[in-house]
Amino acid sequence: MADNNSSPAASVAVLGTGIMGAAMARNLARAGLDVRAWNRTRAKAEPLAADGVRVTDTPAEAVDGADTVLTMLLDGPAVLDAMRQAALRLAPGTLWLQMSTVGPAALEPLVRFAGERDLRIVDAPVLGTKAPAEKGQLIVLAAGPQELRERAGRVLDVVGGRTQWVGEDAASGAASRLKLVVNSWVLTIIGGTGETLALAKGLDVDPRAFLEAVGGGSLDMPYLRMKSELLLTGDLEPSFTVSAARKDARLVNEAGEAAGVRMDLAAATAERLRRAEEQGHGGEDGVAAYFASFVG
Ligand code: NAP
Repeated sequence: MADNNSSPAASVAVLGTGIMGAAMARNLARAGLDVRAWNRTRAKAEPLAADGVRVTDTPAEAVDGADTVLTMLLDGPAVLDAMRQAALRLAPGTLWLQMSTVGPAALEPLVRFAGERDLRIVDAPVLGTKAPAEKGQLIVLAAGPQELRERAGRVLDVVGGRTQWVGEDAASGAASRLKLVVNSWVLTIIGGTGETLALAKGLDVDPRAFLEAVGGGSLDMPYLRMKSELLLTGDLEPSFTVSAARKDARLVNEAGEAAGVRMDLAAATAERLRRAEEQGHGGEDGVAAYFASFVG
């Protein structure tokens, strides 16, 4: 029941079935949970029905009778909007696993909303992308009270391979702050990979010669290989879109500046991603910021 912190998560409403939310909903349904899913663009959620997910027209229908709500939408305003639409059907005591990347500032109104509605919120952004989401191998960075952890674990252990608890209270922003620190690193590599391969092209250097030069050494890394391969094969099917990466670069930038930290790299990456989006690459993988490198 919704008001029992130690009960199993029998029914989960997933709000947002983009790249990440769809994979999570599918894994939860395959693990035997009763899963309902809502997505603004319903067509994207519909394939989940084949795995037993009940696709709904509204967030309110999705949360009706669910003991857990999992939000996996683009940003804080989208999450708040969906939860407001669901408000009348959200039972007091419902566990709310807020797993989108929203940043600490946009988390505040979400925590307030949870307080007003007597929802049990756990801030639980994730590390990992499409493939780990499909395998249920995300790393969950979570902040929430001890007494909710077992209950939350029934969902988090399905969508993730590991949960790193970093705080007792979602309102502390500890999980969302850690997520931005991690994403500062992710964005630095995405931006660096695109710009470095663009320089190779500009200087008439075979990009594979660059990869061979760093291969196996301390400058090499699987993420560089993975992202470079996308560019070299032209397969820009997104794991993490340019638009979502741009949103995160903005969040990293804003949070750093609010803390008195100069975010030169994040600002430059945000600008590259903005140009890439403007050039029509918003729905492609973030490494497509490469295309924003060239003058003219
Ligand atoms: P995505 O595929 O672009 O999906 C975004 C989702 O948000 C879709 O369901 C989209 O609905 C919805 N949405 C966007 N704006 C909305 C609005 N104003 N109102 C209602 N719904 C809205 O993104 P994703 O990769 O799944 O990412 C989801 C969250 O996880 C983001 O916070 C992202 O930063 C985070 N994340 C992503 C990754 C990754 O590698 N992909 C990794 C870790 C964390 P429509 O389908 O209707 O557009």
